Amino acid sequence: PARPVFAGQLPAGLQTISNIVAVSSCKGGVGKSTVAVNLAYTLAGMGARVGIFDADVYGPSLPTMNSEKRTIIPTEYLGVKLVSFGFAGQGRAIMRGPMVSGVINQLLTTLSGMGELDYLVIDMPPGTGDIQLTLCQVVPLTAAVIVTTPQKLAFIDVAKGVRMFSKLKVPCIAVVENMCHFDADGKRYYPFGRGSGSQVVQQFGIPHLFDLPIRPTLSASGDSGIPEAVADPQGEVAKTFQNLGICV
Ligand code: ADP
Repeated sequence: PARPVFAGQLPAGLQTISNIVAVSSCKGGVGKSTVAVNLAYTLAGMGARVGIFDADVYGPSLPTMNSEKRTIIPTEYLGVKLVSFGFAGQGRAIMRGPMVSGVINQLLTTLSGMGELDYLVIDMPPGTGDIQLTLCQVVPLTAAVIVTTPQKLAFIDVAKGVRMFSKLKVPCIAVVENMCHFDADGKRYYPFGRGSGSQVVQQFGIPHLFDLPIRPTLSASGDSGIPEAVADPQGEVAKTFQNLGICV
């Protein structure tokens, strides 16, 4: 797979990680962390050795999503290794660019402690600015998954994300349209409209486009600390991620 040229010395620990998958979105609140966590646990459920790096400096959600203490770096929860800005106790603060690079470097060293992994899933900070670019340049990414909502405007966001990754020669293997619909009283509702997904596939040639409906169990499982992919390994959410084009 295509990898960006790494300018500096690759941190020793990263050499034991076979694949690094970035989960990215252009804005917050679209379900990026939900996708990252459930993707990671689905891959683990398929037998892979998996880690999650919660790099969402603006609002790390891993500590809540996985109900784990914040003091140990890295830690392990339900068979998946975790490293998070939240665990480092720095995540809630608003960080400026240079500070973030310092913290990123520190965390990259921490990744050395994760040992042998088939997949490291990175929950990226939302957006395509300097911080995201730095992170993508420092970490040798294998592939990217873009999370969005089905609004027409979100198409522009996806385009930005695809452009960032293509500049870095990282293939976008899938777009996940989250919160695409919900079912109630025997009817299906599309609160964000429909149809921007096929445009994404046509314009960018991204091989997989997936819909993830609004599911009360998905947000509840985030709060309870048991990811839905773990609670229901044969369910709709786990099936979506099993088909994301990532082989175990
Ligand atoms: P982001 O990482 O993009 O900021 P999150 O994954 O934290 O977004 O999701 C934002 C909120 O929406 C969380 O409370 C999460 O539980 C909820 N959520 C995300 N996706 C879904 C979904 N498909 N169905 C129901 N709730 C969802």
